[in-house]
Amino acid sequence: MQPYTPGEQPAPGKTVKLNTNENPYPPPKAVVEAIQHAATGAINRYPDPVATAFRRAAANALGLPGPEWILAGNGSDEILTMLVRGFVGEGQRLRLPYPSYILYRTLADIQGADWEQVAFEDGWKLPAAFGETADNVRLVFLPNPNSPSGTVVPPEEIEQLASTMTCPLVVDEAYADFAETNCLDLVQKHENILVTRTLSKSYGLAGIRFGFLVAQPHVIAELAKIKDSYNCDMISIAAATAAMGCQDWLADVVAKMNATRSRLAERLATLGFNVTPSQANFVWCQHPSGDHQGMYEFLKKNQILVRFMKFPEWGDGLRISVGTDEQIDVCLMLLENYLKKNA
Ligand SMILES: *Cc1c(COP(=O)(O)O)cnc(C)c1O
Repeated sequence: MQPYTPGEQPAPGKTVKLNTNENPYPPPKAVVEAIQHAATGAINRYPDPVATAFRRAAANALGLPGPEWILAGNGSDEILTMLVRGFVGEGQRLRLPYPSYILYRTLADIQGADWEQVAFEDGWKLPAAFGETADNVRLVFLPNPNSPSGTVVPPEEIEQLASTMTCPLVVDEAYADFAETNCLDLVQKHENILVTRTLSKSYGLAGIRFGFLVAQPHVIAELAKIKDSYNCDMISIAAATAAMGCQDWLADVVAKMNATRSRLAERLATLGFNVTPSQANFVWCQHPSGDHQGMYEFLKKNQILVRFMKFPEWGDGLRISVGTDEQIDVCLMLLENYLKKNA
């Protein structure tokens, strides 16, 4: 099988990482203190197998009826694995839009399942056919905001698409904290709409590995049967629980990063890029010269890592994560120099 290739993770040092959509800012202090506290606690004991403290805190922060609406995972990637394990049997099929998050395909391959892609239409819109599922399609994934585009399918459209599906629709909301809308309300109305979230992006905790699923309690109860018994460790549960109590911090960091995103998008447009309007913490851009690989390599030589992405039969471009204002300034300056030299 083809392996999934995660974004490059160079040894910590001088490299400016704008390639995997991490938060450039450190997590809230309360989270670091919770980690320190947990590390001096009873780590000779197994953790709470279902992360009850976290699920209570998350239900509270998100305005959900209770912890029974939440399943905790070792990163939202583990939640995606559980979903495929639970819903897509060998020889059955999962559906994903294209271009989007490549990992879904790998998860199907691991399961011995098939996958099929439905191409986005112009303007990153989904055709109605995305909601028309044949019997062998057992699960549909939709990253929203999407990666690499950063675009959003409005919740009303998602509700419409899910209503014609004969299987669950997983809305992967890894970037929803940066967006204007999300699908949490839809989960309470429809048993076949499931939402995944992560603490890796908006909360600045990619190194901790924590994500979760929001779904109706009977769905959560079924999926809990197939999880590893102690899938989240004591230290990450403590960190994630504390993070849920930091909603003011989150609002501030999101406002700051979204302001940087606007600046990045405007200045890329000034440099001649076609910039897709983003509601995530990254920007997808394409230059008329088509020399994205050259730009990627030039930036890398200058210790700035961005993501060069190439989608067969579709095209390529650069996905640039929102860093600090200083990091973005350096990246833009280098791109400007490169374009001057190679125009
Ligand atoms: C980053 C990302 C994830 C993975 O999140 P983790 O919680 O770090 O595993 C899931 N889905 C999408 C679309 C992502 O971009």
